[in-house]
Amino acid sequence: MEILIAGGGVGGLALARGLIGAGHRVRVLEAAPALRTGGAAFTIFSNGAAALAGLGAPLGDFGGRLDTLRFDTAAGQTMVNADLAAVARRTGFRVVSTPRARLVEHLAQGVDVEFSRQVVDVEVRPDGVTVTDATGARHEADVVVGADGHRSAVRRAVLDDTPATENEWTTWQGLTAVVPELAGGTTGVCVVGPAGLVGMLPSGDGLLQWWFDVHEPITGAPAAVLADRFAGYGPLVSALLAKIGDADMEAFRHVTHRIPDRWGNGGATLLGDAAHAFPPTQAQGANQALEDAWVLSRVLRATPAAVPEALRRYERLRAPRVRKVSRRAVSERTNKPVPAPVRLLTSLMPAGLLAAAYAAQLRGVSSVLNDEH
Ligand SMILES: Cc1cc2nc3c(=O)[nH]c(=O)nc-3n(C[C@H](O)[C@H](O)[C@H](O)COP(=O)(O)OP(=O)(O)OC[C@H]3O[C@@H](n4cnc5c(N)ncnc54)[C@H](O)[C@@H]3O)c2cc1C
Repeated sequence: MEILIAGGGVGGLALARGLIGAGHRVRVLEAAPALRTGGAAFTIFSNGAAALAGLGAPLGDFGGRLDTLRFDTAAGQTMVNADLAAVARRTGFRVVSTPRARLVEHLAQGVDVEFSRQVVDVEVRPDGVTVTDATGARHEADVVVGADGHRSAVRRAVLDDTPATENEWTTWQGLTAVVPELAGGTTGVCVVGPAGLVGMLPSGDGLLQWWFDVHEPITGAPAAVLADRFAGYGPLVSALLAKIGDADMEAFRHVTHRIPDRWGNGGATLLGDAAHAFPPTQAQGANQALEDAWVLSRVLRATPAAVPEALRRYERLRAPRVRKVSRRAVSERTNKPVPAPVRLLTSLMPAGLLAAAYAAQLRGVSSVLNDEH
């Protein structure tokens, strides 16, 4: 089939890899003039890593392996020590923090992306779709997939024009060679307190992915404001704050889409943030986009006549899984200090039980780990 993908981000490129591998003719129309490689790093959990393997683009040896993820309070108490190495043993796929640029370039291999092609409209007909880009050019295909991010033009054309809503949280993030004692290891650390959360993850090549989730807006030079608000978050955070400046960081508002049962009609559907943007607190946005790509590349083994039903099946499979993640992400609970009774209960749980619970939680939001397509 002739398949058009709007958007050459992580989701669109992953889908292209899966579809090309299955023998389809694939065109990726990307609005930007080149691959968008900014945006620090992603954590790819076992479900995302499994999807990548199934799409024929397994994670390479780039990025930083995460064996442990520790959550501390700003006062220095450890709340949770998640054994991600055990999760990897249970699922067969490790957890990695990878620079966004490395993953996007990895996925783009062998994909012919058409740049500066901003999709502005989609017309769905009984026998296919017509996509119009900002130059006025019209593109015919059997299927169009809107993988064009949370401001999706395809979503506006085939679903609704309600924008994703912002809450009061913002992430300030960067990827730099700082705090070598963490950057060179396999332990990620998150520190939670009244000002919000600081996360620090080793991301390979001596780089540390770091971010600050804050609920009070920052106006003016962010580095000085963050240094002030997060003073007293312990020695690792102090070491980080001493080394970062305004030019190292970007801000991302937390946005959320309503996730309906249907994501399109006829030969049109959505994937990734276009369908289900949610706050980054569960670090699952890219992972869920990869899951979408894995399921969609499998259901599109259908004949052209069966395409609309195959796309609706994909949406029915994915919507309940992503709603679960979205509900957790919207609560922003990882960004808030954990109540003392919950902290006590967690500290009493044996490490093996915690790892089993974590792996079960990942399976609960995964189509890939449940082989569901
Ligand atoms: C601060 C922050 C941290 C995050 N950390 C993680 C993490 O650790 N793990 C994780 O799994 N997720 C994380 N996420 C979420 C993740 O970034 C997104 O969920 C993921 O990028 C979605 O991929 P996508 O391909 O759907 O959309 P995008 O990555 O947004 O890609 C969309 C692409 O479409 C293009 N485009 C836009 N409009 C058009 C148009 N009209 N026509 C053609 N092309 C268009 C864009 O230029 C872009 O290339 C984080 C998000 C934020 C904000």
